[in-house]
Amino acid sequence: MGRSCGAGGTFWAGKGTPRLGSNGGVKIQIRALYQTEGYRVENLNTDGERAQVELRWDERCKPRCGQCGRPMRINRKTKQGALDLPLASAGFVLLTYEAVQGYCQPCTRYETVRPLAIVEQHQATLRLMRQVSLLCRWLPVTRICELFPVGPSKAYRWDRYILQTELPAPCLDGLEAILVDEKAIHKGHGGFVTVVLNARTGELLHLAEGRRKESLESFFTKLSAAQKASIVAVGMDRSGPYRAVVQEQLPAAEIVFDKFHILANYHEVIDRLRRRSYREANGESRTFIKGQRFNLFRRPENLGRDGKAALTKLLAANADLHLTYLLKDGLQQLWGYRYAKSAAKALEAWVEIALEAGIAELGRFARGLREAKAQIVSFCKHQLTSAKIESFNAQISRVIHKACGVANLDYLWLKLRQASLQR
Ligand SMILES: [Zn+2]
Repeated sequence: MGRSCGAGGTFWAGKGTPRLGSNGGVKIQIRALYQTEGYRVENLNTDGERAQVELRWDERCKPRCGQCGRPMRINRKTKQGALDLPLASAGFVLLTYEAVQGYCQPCTRYETVRPLAIVEQHQATLRLMRQVSLLCRWLPVTRICELFPVGPSKAYRWDRYILQTELPAPCLDGLEAILVDEKAIHKGHGGFVTVVLNARTGELLHLAEGRRKESLESFFTKLSAAQKASIVAVGMDRSGPYRAVVQEQLPAAEIVFDKFHILANYHEVIDRLRRRSYREANGESRTFIKGQRFNLFRRPENLGRDGKAALTKLLAANADLHLTYLLKDGLQQLWGYRYAKSAAKALEAWVEIALEAGIAELGRFARGLREAKAQIVSFCKHQLTSAKIESFNAQISRVIHKACGVANLDYLWLKLRQASLQR
């Protein structure tokens, strides 16, 4: 609508309260709180806890066509109600207003005008829904009712509406590098989801049920040939079907196996050796080994004096475990190289030592590492780490908690996209 037409009006306290203003008392200006084109405040009643604000169509105004901007003929007016933001101590504020249906002759269309961007299907003003949605970022939906007269299911529906209509679509142009991972989520979602992030910005680009081939393929169907061509590196875990999908979809992109996944695999090797020595030990030393898992995986600099002593005792008693433990440091250093050639050389040297040790579990890991050499040293060129994915995974858990068992995958997608954009 174009023309401004003296919308709103001065509110004079209504029935049951003394009329002020005309006799030199307090003149209450509330027009600005309900400023909305074409309407004026007709009345406001409140008992301090609840308030009712009546907005009336200003007859001097003509509703304007949203398509061509011309004034429309008013076809009919209907009385409707919507919730609005709290007003001082009145937490429950009901707006009553006239929904004005106009008819645009040139466009041959009807259009209904409402004040304060009321969303008819939710019977609430957009500004109230936005506030609730904002709170849903920080609070579980079950707690929104402490601040607004809104139950959990309504809070969830409003939040979903705002995110659906206001979050930007994923930016798929000029991606350069992406991270692909799977994430376990709780009950009712078939267990796992596949996520794709922009490796540089952390923006969530894709979320799909499962961790199958199709879970990732559905991402690539959203990309144009040019968008695919812009991706030069893909970070991921070694295991699972993602590698085959990427090689098929992005034959020119380099795959970078993720450091944290590989280190996690190595921790499994160390733990397997610890469990082996546990099985071989007896009596007192058995109980002792059982308690050492924590110390083995902690950074040595974070161990207390007792922890260090216990770890030393454990490693002194078990040569295989000791060597494997010491090699962890060298393994981590593989990601410190700037040049792929140096990294490849260091990886070869590490594999040689590991194989020579003649420990079955370690040998298996070393051979796997050698096989993945190209995808590990490609790290030097692309500097991809999954730190973004890791922090994102923590966020997934928080989001699920706040949404109290997220009702569906669509909502999870919206909440996670919001979190990934606002980090
Ligand atoms: Zn029109």
